[in-house]
Amino acid sequence: MNIAVIGGGASGVLACIHLLSQISQKAPPARIMLFEPKNELGRGYAYSGKGEINLLNVRAEKMSYSSKHPLDFLHWLEANAPEALSSVHFPFVPRPLFGSYLAQRLSESRDSSQHAFVHIREKVARAEFRAEGWRITTQSQIEFTADSCVLATGYREGYDWSVLRASAPCDRALGARELRSRPEIFSAASVTIIGAGLSAIDVWRELRDGGMSGEICFVSRRGMLPLPHGEGGGQTCSLAARRLENNSPSRALRTLRDLARNQTGTWAQLADECRAQAPALWASWTLRQRRSFLEHLLPYWDSVRHRAPALVHEELCAELKNKRACLLKARVAETLPQPSGGMLLKFAGGRERKTDWVVLATGVAIEQDLPEASFVKRCALGLGFEAEKGKAIHVLGPPLKCALWETTSIPDIRVQAEQLAARLLGA
Ligand SMILES: Cc1cc2nc3c(=O)[nH]c(=O)nc-3n(C[C@H](O)[C@H](O)[C@H](O)COP(=O)(O)OP(=O)(O)OC[C@H]3O[C@@H](n4cnc5c(N)ncnc54)[C@H](O)[C@@H]3O)c2cc1C
Repeated sequence: MNIAVIGGGASGVLACIHLLSQISQKAPPARIMLFEPKNELGRGYAYSGKGEINLLNVRAEKMSYSSKHPLDFLHWLEANAPEALSSVHFPFVPRPLFGSYLAQRLSESRDSSQHAFVHIREKVARAEFRAEGWRITTQSQIEFTADSCVLATGYREGYDWSVLRASAPCDRALGARELRSRPEIFSAASVTIIGAGLSAIDVWRELRDGGMSGEICFVSRRGMLPLPHGEGGGQTCSLAARRLENNSPSRALRTLRDLARNQTGTWAQLADECRAQAPALWASWTLRQRRSFLEHLLPYWDSVRHRAPALVHEELCAELKNKRACLLKARVAETLPQPSGGMLLKFAGGRERKTDWVVLATGVAIEQDLPEASFVKRCALGLGFEAEKGKAIHVLGPPLKCALWETTSIPDIRVQAEQLAARLLGA
């Protein structure tokens, strides 16, 4: 049996680990081909880099590769990075550690399996279904065949510069991942970050870590920061007794708001409880309702659902209080590069702001140039793609957002990977 896994970020690697560990040693020889152009496996968008500054936003005890061994990542940290356990930020540990952990677990699974695993360092251009099975064609036109095909292509690379509405090229505008390519930014007097979610907080931390001491301003349409992770977690509140499914987006919000007002739970607890119901609620909405949620309610959901490590949040609030940082509720209407350097940001409603640099941190898009694949169609909302049911092609991780909504975090993806492996191996 040949299985092709396209994409070697966290999702593709989780799929390979579970395939290698679930496949019986007595089964006829199998070959798992992982297509990933990058040399390093398991890192993808979220867990690449080497620094300590960007932290996981999920507690370490929830980040194991396996739902059956929930403390595995903690044990790995004890053995391989014990300093992370005594950091003030623990249980939120540096993100690159998670990439190293996945790469190590993959190489152990490969070494202990009698079946073959190959990393093909190529980008896939096409995956077509033919009578003899899948034909996978890479960008350099090399062809492979497989019985099953798994798409784990994750996020789109690059930035949506149209957000700046710039009338001329902006030499001093960078993407969230590009700070180190222009070290002058660390001595700037002012930086404006477009976005106020977790990606924007990463940028703020990286700027401060690099010595930037001037003013940092966050600009977002709703002017909302993520809430902090609370202590303990896992408390129950009265949402457990309610079913949100079949509520319209605004009715679901009203239900949650009433519960929060009646002090039966904090917003963070409600979001955690709501998470279990989110796929059913999302599935019960029409396309119009989903679109309306994305347009009007998404920032509220994101701020309670995707929370920041508590200490990081505290540090940011202190900066906002002492005016080293600011948070503007505004929408960029125009960006004008200035002859003297820097930029003038004009906001809808007439306000303006001069800044030395702009950093785009509006989050990462899922919609991307897919490998052209049989039985796959793009989601009308730009949230990834859908595989036709019952066909030998499977989608994993963020591109399933259109169908599931809750599909981007490791606790969700590892379960998908475990179930996918069982399905493919007929267990
Ligand atoms: C900044 C950030 C921080 C996050 N932090 C956390 C966290 O702390 N905890 C948590 O649970 N979740 C976190 N997440 C959620 C995250 O979505 C998942 O944890 C996970 O990283 C998704 O991995 P992926 O492999 O699906 O996608 P990606 O990381 O995007 O990887 C996709 C891979 O596919 C490859 N690829 C794409 N197209 C092709 C092709 N045609 N052929 C071959 N290869 C291809 C790419 O090169 C890439 O390596 C975070 C997300 C982001 C963006």
